[in-house]
Amino acid sequence: MRRKITNPVKLGSLVIGGGAPVTVQSMTKTDTRDVRSTVAQIQQLEKAGCEIIRAAVLDYEAAEALGKIRQQISIPLVADIHFDYRLALTAIEQGVDGLRINPGNIGSEIGVKKLVQAAKSAEIPIRIGVNSGSVEKDLLDKYKKPTAKALLESALRHAGLLEKYGFDDVVLSLKATDVQTTVEANRMASSRTEYPLHIGVTEAGPYSSGTVKSAVGIGTLLYLGIGDTIRVSLTGNPLEEVRVGWSILTSLGLRRKGPEIISCPTCGRCQIDVMGIVEKVTALTEDMKVPMKIAVMGCVVNGPGEAREADVGVAGGKGSGVLFSKGEIIRKVPEENLCDALLDEIKNLAESDGKKPLE
Ligand code: SF4
Repeated sequence: MRRKITNPVKLGSLVIGGGAPVTVQSMTKTDTRDVRSTVAQIQQLEKAGCEIIRAAVLDYEAAEALGKIRQQISIPLVADIHFDYRLALTAIEQGVDGLRINPGNIGSEIGVKKLVQAAKSAEIPIRIGVNSGSVEKDLLDKYKKPTAKALLESALRHAGLLEKYGFDDVVLSLKATDVQTTVEANRMASSRTEYPLHIGVTEAGPYSSGTVKSAVGIGTLLYLGIGDTIRVSLTGNPLEEVRVGWSILTSLGLRRKGPEIISCPTCGRCQIDVMGIVEKVTALTEDMKVPMKIAVMGCVVNGPGEAREADVGVAGGKGSGVLFSKGEIIRKVPEENLCDALLDEIKNLAESDGKKPLE
Protein backbone atom coordinates (compact mmCIF):
# COMPACT_ATOMS: atom_id res chain seq x y z
CA MET A 1 0.00 0.00 0.00
CA ARG A 2 1.72 3.21 -1.14
CA ARG A 3 0.14 6.40 0.15
CA LYS A 4 -0.12 9.51 -1.93
CA ILE A 5 1.82 12.24 -0.15
CA THR A 6 -0.31 15.35 -0.14
CA ASN A 7 0.39 18.88 1.12
CA PRO A 8 0.70 18.87 4.91
CA VAL A 9 -1.98 20.99 6.57
CA LYS A 10 -1.70 21.90 10.24
CA LEU A 11 -4.86 21.59 12.31
CA GLY A 12 -4.24 22.48 15.94
CA SER A 13 -1.59 20.08 17.18
CA LEU A 14 -2.17 17.64 14.31
CA VAL A 15 -1.06 17.46 10.72
CA ILE A 16 -3.40 16.27 7.97
CA GLY A 17 -1.62 14.98 4.88
CA GLY A 18 2.07 15.08 4.04
CA GLY A 19 2.38 11.42 5.07
CA ALA A 20 1.08 12.02 8.63
CA PRO A 21 -0.93 9.15 10.17
CA VAL A 22 -4.52 8.96 8.91
CA THR A 23 -6.71 10.54 11.60
CA VAL A 24 -10.18 9.56 12.81
CA GLN A 25 -12.75 12.29 13.17
CA SER A 26 -16.38 12.76 13.99
CA MET A 27 -19.02 15.40 14.40
CA THR A 28 -21.04 16.32 17.47
CA LYS A 29 -24.75 15.54 17.42
CA THR A 30 -25.70 17.92 20.20
CA ASP A 31 -26.94 21.49 19.85
CA THR A 32 -23.67 23.46 19.73
CA ARG A 33 -25.28 26.23 21.81
CA ASP A 34 -25.59 23.72 24.62
CA VAL A 35 -21.96 23.92 25.76
CA ARG A 36 -22.31 21.39 28.55
CA SER A 37 -23.78 18.58 26.44
CA THR A 38 -21.45 19.32 23.55
CA VAL A 39 -18.34 19.21 25.75
CA ALA A 40 -19.57 16.00 27.43
CA GLN A 41 -20.04 14.35 24.05
CA ILE A 42 -16.64 15.48 22.78
CA GLN A 43 -14.93 14.20 25.92
CA GLN A 44 -16.55 10.78 25.42
CA LEU A 45 -15.47 10.80 21.79
CA GLU A 46 -11.91 11.77 22.74
CA LYS A 47 -11.81 8.81 25.11
CA ALA A 48 -12.91 6.51 22.28
CA GLY A 49 -10.07 7.80 20.07
CA CYS A 50 -11.64 10.68 18.17
CA GLU A 51 -8.79 12.93 17.00
CA ILE A 52 -10.65 15.83 15.35
CA ILE A 53 -14.14 17.05 16.19
CA ARG A 54 -16.47 19.18 14.12
CA ALA A 55 -19.46 21.09 15.36
CA ALA A 56 -22.29 22.61 13.33
CA VAL A 57 -22.66 26.38 13.69
CA LEU A 58 -26.16 27.53 12.83
CA ASP A 59 -26.21 30.98 14.38
CA TYR A 60 -24.23 33.52 16.42
CA GLU A 61 -25.09 31.88 19.72
CA ALA A 62 -23.52 28.64 18.43
CA ALA A 63 -20.48 30.49 17.05
CA GLU A 64 -19.99 32.26 20.36
CA ALA A 65 -20.22 28.97 22.28
CA LEU A 66 -17.18 27.59 20.43
CA GLY A 67 -14.63 29.36 22.64
CA LYS A 68 -16.04 27.82 25.81
CA ILE A 69 -16.17 24.42 24.15
CA ARG A 70 -12.60 24.76 22.88
CA GLN A 71 -11.30 25.50 26.38
CA GLN A 72 -12.67 22.24 27.76
CA ILE A 73 -11.48 19.76 25.14
CA SER A 74 -8.07 18.69 23.96
CA ILE A 75 -8.60 17.74 20.32
CA PRO A 76 -8.82 20.21 17.41
CA LEU A 77 -12.23 21.80 16.98
CA VAL A 78 -13.56 22.52 13.50
CA ALA A 79 -16.52 24.84 12.94
CA ASP A 80 -18.93 23.68 10.24
CA ILE A 81 -20.59 26.68 8.63
CA HIS A 82 -22.84 27.26 5.66
CA PHE A 83 -24.23 30.35 3.98
CA ASP A 84 -22.80 33.09 6.22
CA TYR A 85 -19.12 34.05 6.32
CA ARG A 86 -19.76 36.29 9.36
CA LEU A 87 -20.43 33.20 11.48
CA ALA A 88 -17.04 31.93 10.35
CA LEU A 89 -15.38 35.20 11.41
CA THR A 90 -16.94 34.81 14.86
CA ALA A 91 -15.81 31.17 15.03
CA ILE A 92 -12.25 32.25 14.23
CA GLU A 93 -12.41 34.89 16.97
CA GLN A 94 -13.51 32.14 19.35
CA GLY A 95 -10.29 30.24 18.65
CA VAL A 96 -11.42 27.28 16.53
CA ASP A 97 -8.65 25.19 14.98
CA GLY A 98 -10.22 24.94 11.54
CA LEU A 99 -13.25 25.67 9.41
CA ARG A 100 -15.40 23.54 7.19
CA ILE A 101 -16.94 25.88 4.73
CA ASN A 102 -17.71 25.98 1.04
CA PRO A 103 -16.60 29.41 -0.17
CA GLY A 104 -19.10 29.33 -3.05
CA ASN A 105 -22.07 29.33 -0.70
CA ILE A 106 -21.10 31.72 2.06
CA GLY A 107 -22.24 34.95 0.47
CA SER A 108 -20.40 37.59 -1.53
CA GLU A 109 -16.85 37.53 -2.81
CA ILE A 110 -16.02 40.27 -0.32
CA GLY A 111 -17.01 37.76 2.34
CA VAL A 112 -14.59 35.19 0.92
CA LYS A 113 -11.83 37.78 0.95
CA LYS A 114 -12.49 38.73 4.57
CA LEU A 115 -12.66 35.09 5.55
CA VAL A 116 -9.35 34.31 3.88
CA GLN A 117 -7.67 37.22 5.66
CA ALA A 118 -9.01 36.08 9.03
CA ALA A 119 -8.06 32.41 8.47
CA LYS A 120 -4.58 33.46 7.34
CA SER A 121 -3.94 35.62 10.37
CA ALA A 122 -5.27 32.93 12.73
CA GLU A 123 -3.22 30.32 10.79
CA ILE A 124 -6.09 27.90 10.52
CA PRO A 125 -7.01 25.67 7.58
CA ILE A 126 -10.27 25.41 5.69
CA ARG A 127 -11.88 22.16 4.60
CA ILE A 128 -14.03 22.40 1.55
CA GLY A 129 -16.64 19.68 1.82
CA VAL A 130 -18.58 18.81 -1.30
CA ASN A 131 -21.51 16.41 -0.89
CA SER A 132 -23.73 14.82 -3.52
CA GLY A 133 -26.77 16.43 -1.87
CA SER A 134 -25.53 19.99 -2.30
CA VAL A 135 -23.88 20.14 -5.71
CA GLU A 136 -24.57 23.49 -7.40
CA LYS A 137 -27.48 23.74 -9.81
CA ASP A 138 -25.40 24.56 -12.89
CA LEU A 139 -23.29 21.44 -12.29
CA LEU A 140 -26.40 19.32 -11.89
CA ASP A 141 -27.67 20.76 -15.19
CA LYS A 142 -24.33 19.99 -16.84
CA TYR A 143 -23.86 16.45 -15.47
CA LYS A 144 -27.58 15.60 -14.97
CA LYS A 145 -26.87 14.22 -11.51
CA PRO A 146 -24.17 14.50 -8.82
CA THR A 147 -21.58 12.39 -10.61
CA ALA A 148 -17.96 12.04 -9.58
CA LYS A 149 -17.00 14.66 -12.18
CA ALA A 150 -19.62 17.06 -10.82
CA LEU A 151 -18.26 16.63 -7.29
CA LEU A 152 -14.72 17.22 -8.51
CA GLU A 153 -15.64 20.31 -10.51
CA SER A 154 -17.53 21.70 -7.53
CA ALA A 155 -14.62 21.09 -5.13
CA LEU A 156 -12.08 22.64 -7.48
CA ARG A 157 -14.34 25.63 -8.06
CA HIS A 158 -14.64 26.27 -4.32
CA ALA A 159 -10.88 25.81 -3.90
CA GLY A 160 -10.30 28.24 -6.78
CA LEU A 161 -12.14 30.97 -4.85
CA LEU A 162 -9.68 30.58 -1.97
CA GLU A 163 -6.66 30.27 -4.27
CA LYS A 164 -7.65 33.56 -5.90
CA TYR A 165 -6.83 35.24 -2.58
CA GLY A 166 -3.64 33.27 -2.06
CA PHE A 167 -5.07 30.72 0.36
CA ASP A 168 -4.06 27.09 -0.04
CA ASP A 169 -4.19 25.80 3.51
CA VAL A 170 -6.96 23.58 2.29
CA VAL A 171 -8.32 20.07 2.82
CA LEU A 172 -10.88 18.71 0.36
CA SER A 173 -13.67 16.23 0.78
CA LEU A 174 -15.85 14.79 -1.96
CA LYS A 175 -18.60 12.59 -0.63
CA ALA A 176 -21.51 10.80 -2.23
CA THR A 177 -24.05 8.50 -0.66
CA ASP A 178 -22.82 5.60 -2.79
CA VAL A 179 -19.45 3.94 -2.71
CA GLN A 180 -18.68 4.01 -6.42
CA THR A 181 -19.20 7.76 -6.87
CA THR A 182 -17.25 8.50 -3.68
CA VAL A 183 -14.32 6.34 -4.74
CA GLU A 184 -14.28 7.69 -8.28
CA ALA A 185 -14.50 11.33 -7.19
CA ASN A 186 -11.64 10.92 -4.72
CA ARG A 187 -9.48 9.04 -7.20
CA MET A 188 -9.88 11.91 -9.64
CA ALA A 189 -9.27 14.51 -6.93
CA SER A 190 -6.17 12.68 -5.80
CA SER A 191 -4.71 12.69 -9.28
CA ARG A 192 -5.66 16.34 -9.93
CA THR A 193 -4.61 18.09 -6.72
CA GLU A 194 -2.09 17.95 -3.92
CA TYR A 195 -4.60 18.94 -1.26
CA PRO A 196 -5.05 16.40 1.52
CA LEU A 197 -8.32 14.51 1.35
CA HIS A 198 -10.85 13.97 4.11
CA ILE A 199 -12.71 10.85 3.03
CA GLY A 200 -16.01 9.23 3.88
CA VAL A 201 -19.28 8.06 2.41
CA THR A 202 -21.89 10.64 3.30
CA GLU A 203 -25.17 9.80 4.98
CA ALA A 204 -24.09 6.15 5.00
CA GLY A 205 -27.14 5.13 7.02
CA PRO A 206 -27.82 3.22 10.22
CA TYR A 207 -25.17 1.26 12.07
CA SER A 208 -25.13 -2.10 10.27
CA SER A 209 -25.49 -1.02 6.63
CA GLY A 210 -23.67 2.28 7.20
CA THR A 211 -20.69 0.53 8.68
CA VAL A 212 -20.37 -1.78 5.70
CA LYS A 213 -20.80 1.04 3.20
CA SER A 214 -18.24 3.19 4.99
CA ALA A 215 -15.77 0.35 5.38
CA VAL A 216 -15.99 -0.52 1.69
CA GLY A 217 -15.76 3.10 0.50
CA ILE A 218 -13.12 4.37 2.91
CA GLY A 219 -11.26 1.06 2.87
CA THR A 220 -11.05 0.97 -0.92
CA LEU A 221 -9.66 4.49 -1.06
CA LEU A 222 -7.15 3.93 1.73
CA TYR A 223 -6.02 0.73 0.07
CA LEU A 224 -5.36 2.78 -3.06
CA GLY A 225 -3.22 5.12 -0.94
CA ILE A 226 -5.84 7.89 -1.00
CA GLY A 227 -7.12 9.71 2.08
CA ASP A 228 -5.52 11.61 4.95
CA THR A 229 -8.32 11.75 7.50
CA ILE A 230 -11.56 9.78 7.76
CA ARG A 231 -15.07 10.26 9.02
CA VAL A 232 -17.59 7.45 9.24
CA SER A 233 -21.10 8.96 9.00
CA LEU A 234 -23.69 6.89 10.82
CA THR A 235 -27.22 7.62 11.94
CA GLY A 236 -26.64 6.88 15.59
CA ASN A 237 -24.20 7.32 18.43
CA PRO A 238 -21.05 9.16 17.24
CA LEU A 239 -18.96 6.85 19.44
CA GLU A 240 -19.71 4.12 16.90
CA GLU A 241 -18.38 6.36 14.13
CA VAL A 242 -15.07 6.59 15.94
CA ARG A 243 -14.90 2.88 16.76
CA VAL A 244 -15.71 1.91 13.18
CA GLY A 245 -13.16 4.44 11.90
CA TRP A 246 -10.46 2.87 14.01
CA SER A 247 -11.50 -0.63 12.92
CA ILE A 248 -11.07 0.40 9.29
CA LEU A 249 -7.57 1.76 9.95
CA THR A 250 -6.59 -1.26 12.05
CA SER A 251 -7.92 -3.71 9.44
CA LEU A 252 -5.68 -2.12 6.84
CA GLY A 253 -2.71 -2.04 9.18
CA LEU A 254 -2.51 1.76 8.90
CA ARG A 255 -2.83 2.48 12.62
CA ARG A 256 -2.93 0.39 15.77
CA LYS A 257 -4.99 1.28 18.80
CA GLY A 258 -6.62 -0.89 21.37
CA PRO A 259 -7.75 -4.44 20.90
CA GLU A 260 -8.03 -6.29 17.62
CA ILE A 261 -10.15 -9.34 18.35
CA ILE A 262 -9.66 -12.43 16.26
CA SER A 263 -12.45 -14.86 17.03
CA CYS A 264 -13.75 -17.87 15.19
CA PRO A 265 -17.33 -17.91 13.93
CA THR A 266 -17.86 -21.16 15.91
CA CYS A 267 -19.25 -24.34 14.42
CA GLY A 268 -20.27 -27.81 15.50
CA ARG A 269 -16.74 -28.48 16.77
CA CYS A 270 -16.79 -25.58 19.21
CA GLN A 271 -15.83 -26.62 22.76
CA ILE A 272 -16.17 -23.36 24.70
CA ASP A 273 -18.54 -20.37 24.88
CA VAL A 274 -16.71 -18.29 22.27
CA MET A 275 -19.58 -15.83 21.87
CA GLY A 276 -19.87 -15.19 25.61
CA ILE A 277 -16.11 -14.69 26.01
CA VAL A 278 -15.90 -12.40 22.98
CA GLU A 279 -18.84 -10.33 24.16
CA LYS A 280 -17.29 -9.82 27.59
CA VAL A 281 -13.77 -9.15 26.31
CA THR A 282 -15.11 -6.70 23.70
CA ALA A 283 -17.10 -4.77 26.30
CA LEU A 284 -14.25 -4.64 28.80
CA THR A 285 -11.54 -3.66 26.35
CA GLU A 286 -13.61 -1.24 24.27
CA ASP A 287 -11.73 1.87 25.36
CA MET A 288 -8.35 0.20 25.86
CA LYS A 289 -5.62 2.21 24.18
CA VAL A 290 -2.76 -0.33 24.13
CA PRO A 291 -2.70 -2.11 20.76
CA MET A 292 -3.19 -5.84 21.25
CA LYS A 293 -4.24 -8.79 19.13
CA ILE A 294 -6.57 -11.02 21.15
CA ALA A 295 -7.63 -14.44 19.82
CA VAL A 296 -10.65 -16.39 21.05
CA MET A 297 -10.92 -19.71 19.24
CA GLY A 298 -13.38 -22.54 19.76
CA CYS A 299 -11.41 -25.72 19.21
CA VAL A 300 -8.07 -27.31 18.38
CA VAL A 301 -8.47 -27.13 14.58
CA ASN A 302 -7.32 -23.53 14.08
CA GLY A 303 -7.30 -22.49 17.72
CA PRO A 304 -3.71 -23.07 18.82
CA GLY A 305 -2.34 -21.59 15.57
CA GLU A 306 -4.31 -18.35 15.83
CA ALA A 307 -3.88 -18.04 19.61
CA ARG A 308 -0.11 -18.44 19.19
CA GLU A 309 0.03 -15.74 16.47
CA ALA A 310 -1.94 -13.25 18.59
CA ASP A 311 -0.50 -11.27 21.53
CA VAL A 312 -2.80 -13.18 23.83
CA GLY A 313 -5.36 -15.87 23.11
CA VAL A 314 -7.33 -18.89 24.14
CA ALA A 315 -7.96 -22.08 22.22
CA GLY A 316 -10.89 -24.18 23.40
CA GLY A 317 -10.66 -27.84 24.37
CA LYS A 318 -13.11 -30.15 26.09
CA GLY A 319 -14.23 -28.48 29.34
CA SER A 320 -11.16 -26.27 29.31
CA GLY A 321 -9.00 -24.04 27.16
CA VAL A 322 -5.33 -23.30 26.63
CA LEU A 323 -4.15 -19.77 27.38
CA PHE A 324 -1.41 -18.33 25.16
CA SER A 325 0.64 -15.20 25.60
CA LYS A 326 3.17 -13.89 23.08
CA GLY A 327 3.22 -17.22 21.28
CA GLU A 328 3.81 -19.35 24.38
CA ILE A 329 1.43 -21.65 26.20
CA ILE A 330 0.82 -20.21 29.68
CA ARG A 331 -1.44 -22.89 31.11
CA LYS A 332 -4.56 -24.98 30.73
CA VAL A 333 -7.59 -23.29 32.31
CA PRO A 334 -11.00 -24.81 33.20
CA GLU A 335 -13.73 -23.40 30.96
CA GLU A 336 -15.50 -21.51 33.75
CA ASN A 337 -12.32 -19.51 34.49
CA LEU A 338 -11.22 -19.03 30.91
CA CYS A 339 -12.64 -15.55 30.34
CA ASP A 340 -11.18 -14.17 33.59
CA ALA A 341 -7.82 -15.76 32.87
CA LEU A 342 -7.80 -14.16 29.43
CA LEU A 343 -8.70 -10.74 30.85
CA ASP A 344 -5.96 -11.05 33.51
CA GLU A 345 -3.43 -11.88 30.84
CA ILE A 346 -4.54 -8.92 28.70
CA LYS A 347 -4.04 -6.69 31.73
CA ASN A 348 -0.63 -8.15 32.55
CA LEU A 349 0.58 -7.79 29.03
CA ALA A 350 -0.58 -4.21 28.72
CA GLU A 351 0.89 -3.27 32.10
CA SER A 352 4.22 -4.80 31.12
CA ASP A 353 4.32 -2.06 28.44
CA GLY A 354 3.97 0.44 31.26
CA LYS A 355 0.52 1.49 30.11
CA LYS A 356 -2.88 1.43 31.72
CA PRO A 357 -4.83 -1.28 29.92
CA LEU A 358 -8.45 -1.17 30.98
CA GLU A 359 -9.37 2.41 31.73
FE1 SF4 B 1 -15.17 -24.38 14.36
FE2 SF4 B 1 -12.90 -24.75 15.66
FE3 SF4 B 1 -12.92 -23.24 13.45
FE4 SF4 B 1 -14.03 -22.35 15.67
S1 SF4 B 1 -11.86 -22.82 15.37
S2 SF4 B 1 -14.94 -22.29 13.62
S3 SF4 B 1 -14.85 -24.18 16.54
S4 SF4 B 1 -13.35 -25.41 13.57
